Parts: sequence; C-alpha cells; structure tokens
Amino acid sequence: MASLIEEIRALGTQALADIRAAASLEQIEQVRVAVMGRKSRLTQLMRELGALSEDERRKAGMVLNEVKDAVADELKKRRAALEAAARAREIAGQSVDITLPGRARLFGRRHPLVQVRRQIEEIFISMGFSIALGPEIENDFHNFAALNFPDEHPARDMQDTFYLPGGWLLRTHTSPVQIRAMLATTPPLAVIAPGRVYRADADVTHSPQFHQVEGLLVDRRVTLGDLKGVLEAFAHRMFGAQYQTRFRPSFFPFTEPSAEMDIGCVICSGVGCRVCGGTGWLEILGAGMVHPAVFENVGYDPEKWTGFAFGMGIERIAMLKYGINDIRLFFENDKRFLEQF
Ligand SMILES: [Zn+2]
Repeated sequence: MASLIEEIRALGTQALADIRAAASLEQIEQVRVAVMGRKSRLTQLMRELGALSEDERRKAGMVLNEVKDAVADELKKRRAALEAAARAREIAGQSVDITLPGRARLFGRRHPLVQVRRQIEEIFISMGFSIALGPEIENDFHNFAALNFPDEHPARDMQDTFYLPGGWLLRTHTSPVQIRAMLATTPPLAVIAPGRVYRADADVTHSPQFHQVEGLLVDRRVTLGDLKGVLEAFAHRMFGAQYQTRFRPSFFPFTEPSAEMDIGCVICSGVGCRVCGGTGWLEILGAGMVHPAVFENVGYDPEKWTGFAFGMGIERIAMLKYGINDIRLFFENDKRFLEQF
C-alpha cells in the first residue's frame, strides 16, 4: 500500500517535470497523452484501486486525485504560456513597412450639371427667389393651354412632345411649374423651378432629356427694367462681370413682350468665332413679361398684377461656362470627363 502511494506521488512529480519541460504545443499534447491518457500508468492505477480494501482504496484514491488535479492544473498553465509565446512570435513576425506609399482614396464629386444647377439656384435664392418643383408627367393644360399656347402651336406636334396614354405627356419645359405655383399661391411671389424636361430631339446640342431652370416673379408694377436687372445680375455672377449682355426681341406664347438674352461670347470675348457664329454673342436664355392671358388662366387679375418669367437650359449654361461642345458628354458617365469638374 505504502509503495502504491509512493508510486503515485513519483508519477506525479515526473509528470509535472515533463510538463514544465515541454517546449511546444505539440510536446505538451504528447505529455498529456502519456500522463493522463487511457493507456497511462496513472489511469491503470485508477483501475487497480478496485482490488484494494475499502480503507486502502480511500487513502490511495485521495492521493491519486490530488496528483491528477495538480497535473491537470500544470498542463493548463503550461499550455496557456506556450500559446501566449506563439502569439507573441507571430506578432513579432508581422512587421509594418511604414515606407510603403498610401492607397490613393477616390473622392466622388458632384456632376457638372448638378454643380451648375446649384450655382444658378444660389444666385436666384440670394435675390429673394424660392424653389418650386412640379411633376415631370404633365397634362396639356399645365404644359401648353394655361401658358397661352394656341391649339395649333408647333410645340404640341408629336415630333417635339412625348405623349403618354390617357392625355398625359412628359413636360417639354419647366414652365408648367409657373402655372402650378400661381394656382397654389396668391401674389406676390418669386420662384425658380429647376428640373428635367423632355423633347423628341437628339444631336450634339440637343438631348431628349435635359434640364431647365424656370423663373417667375409676380408683384405690382413689375417692369421690363426689373427683368433686365435681375437677369444681368445673374449673368455677371454666373459667367463674370466682364461679359456684356444684350436683349433681343423674341416670341414666346406666355410672355409679351418677349426677349432672348445674349452674353458676350465666352470663347472669343466678342471678336467672333465658330461657337458664336462670328457674331460675338451667345444666347443664354429666353424671358419676357408674363402675358395677361396667362394671369387670367390662373385667376390673377392682369390689371392688378404684373410679372416676368424666364427660362434657361442648364446644359447650355454649363456648356458655355466650361467650353463643352457636345451635350452627350453630360450623360455618358465617362469618369475622365466628370473628373475635370
Ligand atoms: Zn465667339
């Protein structure tokens, strides 16, 4: 009996020494199998306890359990230490090369048409205008009739207008927003209406979908001088104060009198070039005093109220501002083009 207990203690002492000597996670696993595995001497002694008397079995069992606990404890400690050492070695092996160049970060930017639209909005907002929006699918009343387009007007032709089933159409200009704004408000009012418009037309300067900004101001005693002042201030802020402006008589069904505004050619500075057709002038927008018939169509008294309206193509403004000669570039999403703005 005494020799059995001695053997157990000796086995324990040897096991603890082996565990402490294990130099790797593989070795510690080998030691565990040798000391605690099913075929180990300790496990074998456990089975042999059954042959002892009850008193001997209790004493030997106590010692055996003590040794087993001590061995299990030591295994756990040594394994944790070896794992920590392995991690430390791995981290030490991963050095950071601080001389490597950084990864270039690609920044998105606003589309040139959005930039120009925002610029136009800011200029008019600073002059007291607010933004009005309207639907892109319109009816004949808002897009044509209320704007004083006669029934036989060529703009209603199938070639220009995209008609939809049920009497609807894709708005051909942002002018219907004038009508909606006036129907929804009592004067005075000053709004600009930026948005998409649609026409059946496509070449280097026309796109079937493009963008306009409409402007409308209604108040008492508004004059053509007010219109010219507002638009001149706009042109100077948009293109630069060095450009002259001029107004030429024109015709639109919803304004009377009507005019087109030109600025001195931004390419040749007025000398005459291919872009301005040798005239030294570039047309940038159409405008005029609101036609009394339009006021009547929205229930405003034309004896009491006066106003002006104007409209411009955002693409055209952007093309002139940046010297772009093909409208299709705006819609191709070619990064080489877009990155220039
Ligand atoms: Zn020119």
